[in-house]
Amino acid sequence: AKEKIYEPLNEDSAVVLVKDLGLFEKEILLECEEIGDGNLNLVFRIADRLNNKSVIIKQALPYAKVVGESWPLTLQRAQIEADALKIYHQHTPNLVPKVHYTNNDLAVTIMEDLSHLKITRSGLIEGESYPLLSGHIGEFLAKSLFYTSDYYLTPPAKKALAKKFYNPELCKITEDLVFTDPFFNSETNEFEEELTDDVQKLWNDLVLKLEAAKLKKSFLTEGEALIHGDLHTGSIFSSNEETKVIDPEFAFFGPIGFDIGQFFANLLFQIISDTGKEKIILDHISNTWNSFQTIYSDLWLSESHEKYTRVEGYLDYVLKKCLQDAIGFAGCELIRRTIGLAHVQDLDGIPSFDKRLQAKRNSLSLGREMIVHRADFQEISGFIDYLRTFQ
Ligand code: ADP
Ligand code: MG
Ligand code: MG
Ligand code: MG
Repeated sequence: AKEKIYEPLNEDSAVVLVKDLGLFEKEILLECEEIGDGNLNLVFRIADRLNNKSVIIKQALPYAKVVGESWPLTLQRAQIEADALKIYHQHTPNLVPKVHYTNNDLAVTIMEDLSHLKITRSGLIEGESYPLLSGHIGEFLAKSLFYTSDYYLTPPAKKALAKKFYNPELCKITEDLVFTDPFFNSETNEFEEELTDDVQKLWNDLVLKLEAAKLKKSFLTEGEALIHGDLHTGSIFSSNEETKVIDPEFAFFGPIGFDIGQFFANLLFQIISDTGKEKIILDHISNTWNSFQTIYSDLWLSESHEKYTRVEGYLDYVLKKCLQDAIGFAGCELIRRTIGLAHVQDLDGIPSFDKRLQAKRNSLSLGREMIVHRADFQEISGFIDYLRTFQ
């Protein structure tokens, strides 16, 4: 084996790496293309057209490009991503890419090529409905969040696992960009001048800011289970038959409502940008929760053996808190994707300027209501009814 000294790959050295690893025949002609978005990581697609074989190499870069500058960012996140994919593979092998090879010194993961699927955000924007999406994500959430929690693992085993997901630098990005910056006049914020009044109102809204601070506390302090940490619709590949979750580099032990809330919010952008999609999207939100709740409860009843988990009402308490947290986290995601640093194509891609502004105003006010009123929702059906009558 070669010495493993970190260097960013290029299209030539990526080909050398997969050949050295014996993933392709030595003499075969390989095509290699860098297909990533280029902010934090490199992603190469390497294909042997003759034998119809291909793989993806993802490599972390030692810096992140943010607001035109670059700041150092630990390569350790490649290992976190690879370790999370391996855990997901144990519980839901059909819902994540197969990992062929990982190398922590090179910050590299070589995995199954999912190019036959589409990034869910793009597909939804183009009008796909992905009938199996919510059932699959509900199952992914239930299994990943149950099997890594204290309700399944012994507390010492869970603490040992949590140590592998020590991820302070990526957590800090979320802590700042999701929970703090959008609620204050911060340099990272980015929004249209026409939204200034709406944004000022939000910055002066002390009720909202207090509730957002409480949600931040949950994110900072509740190490309930291994969460993906970046489960938006750009981290999911879909077709009408398949669903695959990718990109868990933000994974750490956090509150279980967070992944659910991020997924909800990124579905909601589809209604906010096109009210004609209300039924499809509300069905997905409701079905995500219902499949999560059903599978999670079944696992709890069959595989949770600690005495305290059998106390009458305790599972209901955990689930209700999870739902209310998810609604609050979703509200934070709606706001930060509207006026914070990282926007979404669902909103920014609305062609008419007036409609785009209106959609962004709706996103801000829905986000605000969800954060402030999250404790009013006792069940998913009440939340769905509320969304149906919003505005
Ligand atoms: P980042 O952390 O930089 O966002 P992602 O893991 O989300 O990286 O990958 C960025 C892009 O690379 C994806 O949006 C997708 O287009 C492509 N990509 C990533 N993984 C795969 C894969 N397994 N198969 C095909 N394309 C992929
Ligand atoms: Mg990206
Ligand atoms: Mg990504
Ligand atoms: Mg990523």
